[in-house]
Amino acid sequence: MPLLLLDLDGTLREPLSGQRYFQHPRDQQIIAGVDIALQAYSDQWIMIGITNQGGVAAGHKSIQSCIEEQQYILELLPQLREVYFCPDFEGRKCFRVTRHNFYNHSKTHWSGQYRKPGAGMLNLAMVRHKHTPAGTWYVGDRPEDEAAARRAKVSFQWAEQWISFHPAPCQAVE
Ligand SMILES: [Mg+2]
Repeated sequence: MPLLLLDLDGTLREPLSGQRYFQHPRDQQIIAGVDIALQAYSDQWIMIGITNQGGVAAGHKSIQSCIEEQQYILELLPQLREVYFCPDFEGRKCFRVTRHNFYNHSKTHWSGQYRKPGAGMLNLAMVRHKHTPAGTWYVGDRPEDEAAARRAKVSFQWAEQWISFHPAPCQAVE
């Protein structure tokens, strides 16, 4: 099955409060056009959220609150299977969040490369789903997203284009 990796903040979601940063786990709304863009993908696609969460290291939110934040986007977007987040600036830690659980993947050989532009989270997602970079796409809104995709050798698409022009990679090409 093809793999669609998606950045979250500024790509799929934005603060509902209109503030610059998310104020609490449920302070989220889906960015206009995202629902329609996601509809272009059949249920053959595995869709996964990939997000830097340096706000944890900066002291703006706890790990627990960050996990709740990711579980809420899984509620808002049932198409998403799971979310990987990196809470520290050194990129040493990675948590994988599912609807009802979370898992610590910090002790892997990608520890130190999890924070984007590192490719650690993308690589972990691909390995966990037994997937290679061919047939994997990553959508993001910032230069570190593009850099992470390049390092992981997966195709990249800018969020704005992905939302406006409908997803190019909507056909499986394997
Ligand atoms: Mg972003």
